[in-house]
Amino acid sequence: MEKYSGKNVVITGGGSGLGFATAKLLVDGGARVVITGRSRATLDAARELGENATAVRGDVSSLSDLDALADRVKDELGTVEALFVNAGIAPPTPFGSVTEETYDELFAINVKGAYFTVQKLAPLLSTGAGVVLTTSIANVIGMLDASVYAAGKAALRSMARSFSRELLPRGIRVNAISPGPVDTGVLENTMSEEAAERFKEERVADNPMRRFGTTGEIAVAAAFLAFDATYTTGTELAVDGGASQL
Ligand code: NAD
Repeated sequence: MEKYSGKNVVITGGGSGLGFATAKLLVDGGARVVITGRSRATLDAARELGENATAVRGDVSSLSDLDALADRVKDELGTVEALFVNAGIAPPTPFGSVTEETYDELFAINVKGAYFTVQKLAPLLSTGAGVVLTTSIANVIGMLDASVYAAGKAALRSMARSFSRELLPRGIRVNAISPGPVDTGVLENTMSEEAAERFKEERVADNPMRRFGTTGEIAVAAAFLAFDATYTTGTELAVDGGASQL
């Protein structure tokens, strides 16, 4: 029997980057996975993952989409043993030029979306299930051009603690994973290639390990929190080459 046989998993934003790598690790280990995302690429990603993966298109900032997701998950999987709250955007937010629109969009997706993802899927979580929220090292470091993103991730860090308390009576653990820089293409989606290149060079120079993390390194840590860390709740695991610690 494979390590994750019989385990049902939901990963928001599972069609690319860190979410996709985690989905692949778990599907390869025998899990059934529902991945979500806004774009068609989510459907292609599910096809690539194979018959144990299902794609559900939807926007995490829409509560009706989250209700529809919960209905589909109930039909497809019944109960859920691991929920990865991973969907997010990372537009640059230089302090002087942040607009109300940028601010609201970021909080709608990264913060409200995460909150209601957990609320709407909580009834389907089984006893002993693990929830993993994706934060960032930006929530403990004052980073340039990331003030709104960082505040949103700090809110998620707080939610990991509150949700842990709320769900503990049902035996459900809630933790956060805090990735350092991983080259997933997320930057190129939201800034020019040149700006992304500059940002990446700075991150590598700042990092104690002088390199980016890999999606596989994040996936292993996320799976650890969801399934193996059975005496751990409310915490945040930094997977960042030491960037937030050294
Ligand atoms: P990514 O862009 O590949 O993944 C983000 C996913 O979220 C995409 O699949 C996208 O379709 C989905 N998404 C975005 N908005 C959505 C919405 N409104 N509704 C549904 N899905 C939506 O980037 P990634 O690097 O894999 O990022 C994953 C998570 O990790 C994000 O929360 C990001 O903030 C966080 N993170 C990434 C890094 C990094 O260096 N890559 C570092 C720290 C934290």
